Amino acid sequence: MGQDQYTFQDPIKRYPSIEPPQQDQPEPGLDKELVPHTDRGEDTYRGTGRLKGRKALITGSDSGIGAAVAIAFAREGADVALSYLPEEEEDAKVVARVIEEAGQKAVQLPGDLTDSNTCRELVKNAVEGLGGLDILVNNAGRQIAVEKLEDLSDEQFDTTFKTNIYAFFWITKAALPHLQPGSSIINTTSIQAYQPSPTLIDYAATKGAINNFTKGLAQQLAPRGIRVNAVAPGPFWTPLQVSDGQPKEALPKFGKSTPIGRAGQPTELAPAYVFLASSESSYVMGETLNVNGGSPSP
Ligand code: NAD
Ligand code: MG
Repeated sequence: MGQDQYTFQDPIKRYPSIEPPQQDQPEPGLDKELVPHTDRGEDTYRGTGRLKGRKALITGSDSGIGAAVAIAFAREGADVALSYLPEEEEDAKVVARVIEEAGQKAVQLPGDLTDSNTCRELVKNAVEGLGGLDILVNNAGRQIAVEKLEDLSDEQFDTTFKTNIYAFFWITKAALPHLQPGSSIINTTSIQAYQPSPTLIDYAATKGAINNFTKGLAQQLAPRGIRVNAVAPGPFWTPLQVSDGQPKEALPKFGKSTPIGRAGQPTELAPAYVFLASSESSYVMGETLNVNGGSPSP
């Protein structure tokens, strides 16, 4: 194992300030093909039993942030159901193997979450495969940059909303009957919720909606002992960015304008999700935890 997350170190130098070459992958993109590769914690995340015996469903967990969260959860003692698109099978297999190497169960559940029936099936299969459910991480998302509103198609607008917010609603609704007091729901939003890029009109609007959904639902579910929170990442190097998430010319300077001066690596987000999933955050509800390299947030 390399330097783990508990090693005292300079956060600026923990990872190099990458300058990714211009590259393109068809949506949804694969971690396997990403240049440079990312750190999802395979060699660096050290668990200490913070989620022992827990059962988690994580969407978009084949790659990027979701993969880092899945690896961390398993190292902390949780069994994990992985949701991803069928064309991401190769990435998902790698994550499943790391989970199994941690001595935990990995349940692989491919499917397209823009369909409400698939979302309901996903929850059903996760509950069956894990033998219950007490952590739900709504993390799947799509981001396609478009320069002009006139070029933003009705179809893209619709698919972005279906993926990024409708699916959160469908999956959460299907999961609720299975969630006992003590369970935790964590939604991945973005700094885009309050600092929208001019090229990400549809995406940023869904991230604003996720923040709002989180804060409303947290109040509704608090009396049931179910906590709802969000994590708002800044720029993290993942396949999302190279499958048209950014204009190509922006890739070499990705993340450099943050106060810390570099893009984040997916595993640097994992402890935020572990904290919100674990009972140690029992009094944290409706919170958005910003993990963004120092950009001011509301
Ligand atoms: P990623 O491409 O690794 O993960 C996104 C995942 O979403 C894909 O792997 C895919 O499995 C899933 N997905 C997309 N469309 C789907 C569909 N129709 N059905 C099922 N699954 C689908 O990229 P990531 O950056 O790790 O993204 C994870 C989350 O983090 C997203 O919600 C994204 O908006 C959010 N986020 C990312 C950044 C960043 O800089 N990378 C910043 C803020 C927020
Ligand atoms: Mg992926």
